[in-house]
This record gives sequence, C-alpha cells and structure tokens, in this order.
Amino acid sequence: MRASDTCPVYFENVRVPQRHRIGEEGMGFMMQMLQFQEERLCGAVGTLRGMDAVIDQTIAYCKERTTFGQPLINNQVIHFRMAELRTEVELLRSLVYRAVEDYVGGKDVTMLASMAKLKAGRLAREVSDACLQYWGGMGFTWDNPASQAYRDTRLLSIGGGADEIMLGIICKLMNILPGKKRD
Ligand SMILES: Cc1cc2nc3c(=O)[nH]c(=O)nc-3n(C[C@H](O)[C@H](O)[C@H](O)COP(=O)(O)OP(=O)(O)OC[C@H]3O[C@@H](n4cnc5c(N)ncnc54)[C@H](O)[C@@H]3O)c2cc1C
Repeated sequence: MRASDTCPVYFENVRVPQRHRIGEEGMGFMMQMLQFQEERLCGAVGTLRGMDAVIDQTIAYCKERTTFGQPLINNQVIHFRMAELRTEVELLRSLVYRAVEDYVGGKDVTMLASMAKLKAGRLAREVSDACLQYWGGMGFTWDNPASQAYRDTRLLSIGGGADEIMLGIICKLMNILPGKKRD
C-alpha cells in the first residue's frame, strides 16, 4: 500500500466535456453504490492469501527460533493461537466464496459483500497483530512480514466505506436502523 499516494485532491472550476461523462447525468451515486459490491468483495478476497502467508511465515519462524532450549512453536499458547487464526481465515474464505458465487450468479450481494469486507478488515488486523507478537522485537522492524501486513491491511477497515458504514448497511438490510419502518 506504500505505492498508494494518499492525499486530498481538490477540483476548482474544472470543466468536463460531455463526451467524457460516464453514464446518465444524476446517476453517479447509484453507479458508485452498485460498483461497491465488487470493490468490497475484491477487498475481502484480497486478504485471504495474505493472511495465509503471514500465518505460514510466523509458524516457520516459531519453529526456527528457540527460547529456553525449545522452539517457540512448542508453546501451546502459540500453536493453539495459530490454529485459531487459521480457523477464522477458513470461515472468512467460506463467506467470500458464497458471496462471489451469488454475485457471479447475478444476485444482489450487498449484505454478504458488506459482511465479508467488515470481517476481512477486522480479521486481517487480528491475524497480523497476533502474528507480529510471536516475532518479538523482530516484529517491530519495518520490513518484517507481520509488521508489513499490520500496516497494509489496516486500510481495509477504512477504504471503500469504513467498518461503521458496513455495519450501517447490514443494519439497514436487517431492518433494525432507528427511525425506519419495521415489518
Ligand atoms: C490508501 C487509501 C486509498 C484510497 N483509495 C481510494 C480510491 O481509489 N478511490 C476513492 O474514491 N477513495 C479512496 N480512498 C478514500 C476512502 O474510500 C475513504 O478514506 C473512506 O471511504 C473513508 O472516508 P473518509 O476518509 O472521508 O472518512 P470519514 O467519512 O471522515 O470518516 C472517518 C471515520 O469516522 C467513522 N464514521 C464515518 N461515518 C460514520 C457513521 N455514519 N457512523 C459511525 N462512524 C462513522 C469511521 O470510523 C471512519 O473511518 C482511499 C483511502 C486510502 C486511505
């Protein structure tokens, strides 16, 4: 994500020729909302292999690193944690596969895509943070894979609509937003 040049951009008195218009006038918001299904699904899909990789790299490191005469991985708190993280990633993978299958089948996946992005952003944080811990001081260094994952994946809970926006969409589709008519 360091290749993403993040900054505000201001447009003042910009004239856009008609031939450069995308779609019908006044439909921009609607088009963006439809596009978000794909963007949010892509965001969730994109975390899966990264999380697998950081778990694999952390396991390899914990097998190699010895403290008090034995490899770090022999500590039950560590190998159990790796198993928990892998289980969580597999649960997210199932949700993502289901959402993608529905999307390819032409269904509206607003609810599933919002859930997948919400969960992916939170799980990516959890996986990278938990893995970083087991690299000890090495995890604090800039080029460590868990450290890199920690910084790079943080975007997912903000970009493409923040977690709170995902929760709002899910609540709206669950018909539990305050002030809305309930069945
Ligand atoms: C690296 C990077 C790349 C990006 N790439 C793109 C891009 O390619 N195209 C593009 O269009 N945009 C892009 N963005 C912008 C991104 O989509 C926005 O930053 C994001 O949608 C959040 O909007 P905001 O920054 O205006 O935060 P704000 O809307 O100011 O929200 C700030 C925080 O307040 C909270 N919040 C906001 N609304 C609510 C609410 N209703 N209820 C409760 N809490 C709320 C959330 O925690 C949120 O993170 C990018 C951003 C980054 C950091």
